[in-house]
Amino acid sequence: MAISRGCPSDNQSVTEPHNITVDLLIVGSGTGMAAALAAHEAGLSTLIVEKTSYVGGSTARSGGAFWMPANPILTQSGSDDTLAAGRTYLDSVVGEASAHDRAHAFLYYGGPTVQMLQRTTPMKFQWAKGYSDYHPEKSGGSAIGRTCECRPFNTAVLGPELARLRPGVMKSSFPMPVTGADYRWLNLMVRVPRKSWPRILLRAFQGIGGLALRRRYAAGGQALAAGMFAGVVRAGIPVWTDSPVSDLLVDGSRVVGAVVNRSGTAVAVTARRGVVLAAGGFDHRMDWRHKFQSERLGEHASLGAEGNVGDGIRLAQDSCGAGTALMDQAWWFPAFAPLPGGEPTVMLAERSLPGCLLVDQNGQRFVNEAVDYMSFGQKLLERERAANPVETMWMIFDQKYRNSYLMAAELFPRMPIPATWYDAGIAHRADDMPALARAIGVDPSAFGATLDRFNRLAAAGDDTDFGRGASAYDRYYGDPTIAPNPNLRPLGSGPFYAVKVVLSDLGTCGGLRTDVRGRVLREDGSAIDGLYAIGNTAANAFGASYPGAGATIGQGLVFGYIAAQHAAGKLE
Ligand SMILES: Cc1cc2nc3c(=O)[nH]c(=O)nc-3n(C[C@H](O)[C@H](O)[C@H](O)COP(=O)(O)OP(=O)(O)OC[C@H]3O[C@@H](n4cnc5c(N)ncnc54)[C@H](O)[C@@H]3O)c2cc1C
Repeated sequence: MAISRGCPSDNQSVTEPHNITVDLLIVGSGTGMAAALAAHEAGLSTLIVEKTSYVGGSTARSGGAFWMPANPILTQSGSDDTLAAGRTYLDSVVGEASAHDRAHAFLYYGGPTVQMLQRTTPMKFQWAKGYSDYHPEKSGGSAIGRTCECRPFNTAVLGPELARLRPGVMKSSFPMPVTGADYRWLNLMVRVPRKSWPRILLRAFQGIGGLALRRRYAAGGQALAAGMFAGVVRAGIPVWTDSPVSDLLVDGSRVVGAVVNRSGTAVAVTARRGVVLAAGGFDHRMDWRHKFQSERLGEHASLGAEGNVGDGIRLAQDSCGAGTALMDQAWWFPAFAPLPGGEPTVMLAERSLPGCLLVDQNGQRFVNEAVDYMSFGQKLLERERAANPVETMWMIFDQKYRNSYLMAAELFPRMPIPATWYDAGIAHRADDMPALARAIGVDPSAFGATLDRFNRLAAAGDDTDFGRGASAYDRYYGDPTIAPNPNLRPLGSGPFYAVKVVLSDLGTCGGLRTDVRGRVLREDGSAIDGLYAIGNTAANAFGASYPGAGATIGQGLVFGYIAAQHAAGKLE
């Protein structure tokens, strides 16, 4: 057979003695691990290659939530969700008609994917009941939600392999496995102690008590990635770290393997059943981000893992003429501005809680602060395209707010804002609002007018300007002790604070065009034999939308399962 390296620009020679053959090669160790587990279970010899020194990608840094309508975890937990309702919802949120087929494939293989993970890993799952879909008011939407997650997982089962697990981004100051479902109540430890403290004590007991038993409990993406990694180790699937794929091997029109630079040595891996590109998005490839998305995006403001620079997309384009879609999209995510040299800090419930608002460089509100993070980013880009950009964003709050809620995952109620934030100019504090306005460089009278109006609307509980608190999603992260609107309270007495907010993201979600089996499509729409793309290497299966918390990991897992089944000949 005449095998050619798809991208001849790389001059490294393939070292023959190291060449190996497997059935399925998985490129990337985030949701790619689900593809590997499914492939192994289906009887395929499988190899995972990972560019960085760590296993887990953004998946390990994440909140670990996955969104899958009517999956067995939901059913066993008492949800009455159905595939039909899920389909109605997906049809109502997925804008582009071309994406519907993939959304439907996702829907129908969600259940089998969960069952596969239950069989092949030691993970136990739970429903984050109440975590509303992001558009619950749309037809088929669910306010009680379809988001699931791994229960706190003892990562010590990985033994020495634990050192290769990518560290998480959302660390708490204590060894406490905080799940997504816990996080909502952790925020309310002062306001709703009855609901909050039993969870805090349970997780502290698990975290600190577990250490005494040599258990290291983790939650969120750490639990999910560790759980899949444990399954991978148990199955004996090799994971080569420090091993980027630099070329695809192509025989005629079929992809038959890849060149892997394993710790500096080029290895030709022949993959009899194909290659799954699970190499993440182009989160940190700034020339593409500026070209396809916005010139204004900050350098490396993405929270995605650093190895995600679009390799999978580029390899498939260069080798096989693969088509792309939705390159202007990302899983947008407003975050607290970074300290010098650092990365943005995750903010989630903060902007939904009452007693705060966001203003732009003109001292004006510009968005429903509590909207889901993807829609938030899309609104900013809409404003930019309309030549009316939001140039700076400040979250404004009063002392009562600071005394009431958790902030940036580590500032407990009443804890002062760190001096480093003030020193870096990302936080300001003032006794009155005009002084705060001057500190953040906005016109005090415009700022004052915004606050007067906000306070009037908040007192009435009806945000007629932006609709904050109208959706069940907004209210999920609200404060249920505040009436009539759990997302709104007028700002009271000082001191007042401003903290800078930037547009970050959880990764990009435009990428390779794929079909319902996860096969990569050429520009002309034909499928490339032997080449699959999943997760953020593929264009979002939900078009430009984010249906609910966990829809990104959800689709990575499910299309990993589908691709493996197809490669194993179990799906037409
Ligand atoms: C803070 C945070 C919280 C989040 N919370 C959630 C959540 O709760 N639910 C949710 O659904 N989503 C969440 N996300 C988004 C989600 O984590 C990602 O969209 C998802 O994990 C992407 O999965 P992936 O498999 O495509 O990529 P990744 O998990 O990033 O894996 C890609 C891997 O491929 C490797 N790679 C890249 N190039 C090569 C190459 N040439 N050769 C070999 N390997 C390569 C990378 O190093 C990386 O390890 C969150 C993200 C962040 C950052």
